[in-house]
Amino acid sequence: MSRAVSPRFNHFVAPLALLVGGEVIARQVSLNEFFTSLYNVLPTVLLLLGGALCLMYGRIRECFLLLCVYLVYFLLDTHADHYRDHGRLLDDAALTFHLCSLLLPLLYGLFGVWRERSHLAQEGLARAAVLFAVGIVALALARRFPDALHAWLVVIRWPALQADWLQLIQLAYPAFLAALVLLTVQYLRQPRPSHAAQLVGLAGVLLLLPQTFSRGAALNVLSSHVLLMLVAAIAHEAYLMAFRDELTGLPGRRALNERLQRLGRQYVVAMADVDHFKRFNDTHGHDVGDQVLKMVASRLRKIGGGGRAYRYGGEEFTLVFPGRSVEECLPHLEAVRQSVESYALQLRDASSRPKDDRQGRMARGKTSATQVSVTISIGVAERQGEQRVPGEVIKAADQALYSAKKAGRNCVRVHGSGRGAVRMNGHSH
Ligand code: GH3
Ligand code: MG
Ligand code: MG
Repeated sequence: MSRAVSPRFNHFVAPLALLVGGEVIARQVSLNEFFTSLYNVLPTVLLLLGGALCLMYGRIRECFLLLCVYLVYFLLDTHADHYRDHGRLLDDAALTFHLCSLLLPLLYGLFGVWRERSHLAQEGLARAAVLFAVGIVALALARRFPDALHAWLVVIRWPALQADWLQLIQLAYPAFLAALVLLTVQYLRQPRPSHAAQLVGLAGVLLLLPQTFSRGAALNVLSSHVLLMLVAAIAHEAYLMAFRDELTGLPGRRALNERLQRLGRQYVVAMADVDHFKRFNDTHGHDVGDQVLKMVASRLRKIGGGGRAYRYGGEEFTLVFPGRSVEECLPHLEAVRQSVESYALQLRDASSRPKDDRQGRMARGKTSATQVSVTISIGVAERQGEQRVPGEVIKAADQALYSAKKAGRNCVRVHGSGRGAVRMNGHSH
C-alpha cells in the first residue's frame, strides 16, 4: 500500500467540528421545536442518504458503520423517548443499553477495519451475516436469561478501575479502547478522510452513550452528527478521487479544467515537463520514477507569485497564474526550475531500485547509488493577441515548452519571444 498522503489535520476538521457542535447542542437544556423535529428525522434521513451514496460508490464498509450507529440509535430512541415522557424506564431499558454499549464498539471496530477484498455482494453478505448472528444471539440471550445476562454485564470486574465518571458498564471500556486503537492504527497506516471520520465517529459514540437518558436531545443530536461525519467523509473522498491526482496529491486535470473556466482577462499558463523521463524510468525503475514525480510536484506546489500547480498528466504539470503577466511569473518559474535541478533525491529502500542485479549495477555506474536528480523544462504563455481562450493559451505554452526542449532542456521559454519560439500545431513531443 503506497503512502502517498501523510496524516493531515484537515481530515479531522469536519468530524471534530461536528463532534464539538453536537456536544454543544446536546448540552442545551431544551431545543426549540424546529430543531427537535429536525433531529428527530435527521438520523433516518442520513442513513438513507448515506446508504444511497454507499450503493453508488460501492462503499460496503461505510454502509455497515452507518447501519451499526443507526441500529443503536433506533434501539435506544424508544427507551429515551419513554423515559422523557413518563419519567421512568421500560423494563428492558437497562439491558438494551448495556448490550448496545458493549456490542456497538466491537462491531464498529470490526466493520471499520474489515478490508474489502472480493465482490461487493459477497462482502456485503459476509458483514450482514456477522451483524445478523450477533444480533440474534444477543436477542436470544436477552429473552431467555435477562437477569443473568444483566448481572453478567454490570458486574464490576476491576474494582480498582471503577470511578464515578465512568458511567458505562466496565466491559464497554476495553471494547471502546480496542476499537479506538484499531482505528487509530488504520488511520496512521492509511491517512484518509473516511478513516479519520470513523475514528472521530467512534469517539462521538463514546461521548453520546452516557448522555442517552440524562440529556433529552443528546441521543438524536450526537447520533445524527456521527452519521453525518461518516456521510461527509464519503462525499469528501469522492471529491478527492475526482479532483486530486493520487500519486502527487496535486489537483488533477479535471480540477485544472474547472479552474480554466473561471479565469479573467489576464492570466499566465506554464507547462512543465520532466526532461528525459523515459530514460530515467528505464534506468532507475518505475517506482523511483514515481518518487521523482512526487518530488517535482512538491516543488511545483510551492511556486510563488500566486501560481497554482496541477498534474496535467504523466510527467507534465500545468501552472496557472491568475491576473499575472509573464514578466511577473518568470522569476518564480526560474526559481522552481532551479529548485528541482538542485534537489538530490535519496533512494530510500532497496526495493525501489531495479530488481535485476545487472540493471542495478548499470544504474549505479551512472549515478551515485543513493542520490538521483532530474531537471524540468518550462514553456510559458500569456492570454493575449491570438490566444484568447484557455485552450489556446495552453497550446501556446506547449509550443514554448517544445522550444525549451529544443534549446537543450532544463530552461524556461516564453511563447512568441526571442530565440526558440517555434510555431507548430498540436501537442509537442
Ligand atoms: P523529454 O525530455 O523530451 O520530455 O523526454 P521524455 O522521455 O521525458 O518524454 P516522453 O514523453 O517520451 O516520456 C514520458 C515518460 O514518462 C514515459 C512514461 O514512462 C513516463 N511516465 C509517465 N507517467 C508516469 C508515471 O506516473 N510514473 C512514472 N514512473 N513514469 C511515468
Ligand atoms: Mg512528456
Ligand atoms: Mg518529459
